[in-house]
Amino acid sequence: MPAPMQIYNTLSRRVEELEPLEPGHVRLYTCGPTVYDYAHIGNFRAYVWEDLLRRALKLAGFRVTQVMNITDIEDKIIKKMNDENLTLEQATQPYVDAFFEDIDTLRIERAEHYPRATDHIREMLQIASALRDRGLTYESQGSLYFKIDSFDGYGRLSNLENREVMSGARVDSDEYGKDDARDFVLWKGHREGEVSWPSPFGEGRPGWHLECSAMAMKYLGESFDLHTGGVDNIFPHHENEIAQSEGATGKPFVRYWMHVAHLMVDGEKMAKSKGNFYTLRDLLERGHAPRAIRLLLLGTYYRGSLNFTFEGLAKATSEVQRLDDMAARLEREPAGSDGHDEAFDARIEERVAEFKRALAADLNISSALGAVFGTVREAHQALDRGELPSGSREQLASAMDVFQSVLDLAAETDAGLDEEVEALIEQRNAARKAKNFAESDRIRAELTARGILLEDTPQGTVWKRKL
Ligand SMILES: [Zn+2]
Repeated sequence: MPAPMQIYNTLSRRVEELEPLEPGHVRLYTCGPTVYDYAHIGNFRAYVWEDLLRRALKLAGFRVTQVMNITDIEDKIIKKMNDENLTLEQATQPYVDAFFEDIDTLRIERAEHYPRATDHIREMLQIASALRDRGLTYESQGSLYFKIDSFDGYGRLSNLENREVMSGARVDSDEYGKDDARDFVLWKGHREGEVSWPSPFGEGRPGWHLECSAMAMKYLGESFDLHTGGVDNIFPHHENEIAQSEGATGKPFVRYWMHVAHLMVDGEKMAKSKGNFYTLRDLLERGHAPRAIRLLLLGTYYRGSLNFTFEGLAKATSEVQRLDDMAARLEREPAGSDGHDEAFDARIEERVAEFKRALAADLNISSALGAVFGTVREAHQALDRGELPSGSREQLASAMDVFQSVLDLAAETDAGLDEEVEALIEQRNAARKAKNFAESDRIRAELTARGILLEDTPQGTVWKRKL
């Protein structure tokens, strides 16, 4: 049986133990990207946090089936197609590819399913038809709308009074002809020059909210465990997903909802107009290491806003460097003796327990990272004393494996490259012995160009990878 996980459920506004419908198996839906542009670091805060959630569930012993949708038909995509005279494929495919490249760069573990909206039009129409048959919709000027008044539970997730729901509603320019400002579109009637599909309600295209309901229920069932997204998705997107799904099936849609807070830049909302807007690619171009970006995005408790600053990124970089330094030291400095340092082992074991406890407490990442860097400190101190016997090294290595399974911040090891570097260092040492300093400098420069930094110490030359 998995270890218990406590999570904050937006629906109940309480921290609760996560109890999946099928014991030991969490079905998880995560709202995915709309592919008309590169995802920005605010989007990646959510995706990296969802990766943390997924990996923490697995560490606790759950099996996870995760779905992340790819929204490849939506108002902004239509606009891009029209503005730049592109086909749907031309407008979206480059950003689908970029999205998968970016999540690999940030070491976000792949979900089990990445359904695309345009492959699920049939499922969307089935939900829309079921809603119509149950009298929860009306047609107006070629579009099909969900009638909020006909659904009792509307507003439960966002806890909004009707009045607030009214004033907060996003009124799309093309959602004309609604009876009530809160009503939302399920199927948008065709307009000249727009991509469309045939339907029982006439030619048209799906509304964004309907896309998520259809893809969630297709892969996870009509009722499933956990749905996540950004806080800005709570209303109206998730509220509308609940109304459509429960309206169509008559069953509870999702038991637990989790929402991640915003990312700010230098304390301000990120906006292109403010010049503080960054995609992942912008940060990589400035020379920042993916692992440091990952740590920065991971490192703040998800229910509080994350303030992105370049000082924060520099700090994350040095923390990742500390992990690398410890790994390098362990490799370089041989174990002094066999056996165990019992006191050291006990302390490391307690750190691992602390790490697991912290993640199980609504993903308390600060305490979890405290346990990791506490372990790193212990290891350096033991090495400084020259007292880390081989048994305790194994204990340390298995602790680092536990941390790595969730945080994934360790350097990639490349045995082939390591050998090549070692060989070049030997050549350089030979050149230095022969006082051929031109050759020795050339080898150092070659290594530097390849991201390998050398340091000459009294014990010999040591090397490390630039982050
Ligand atoms: Zn969604």
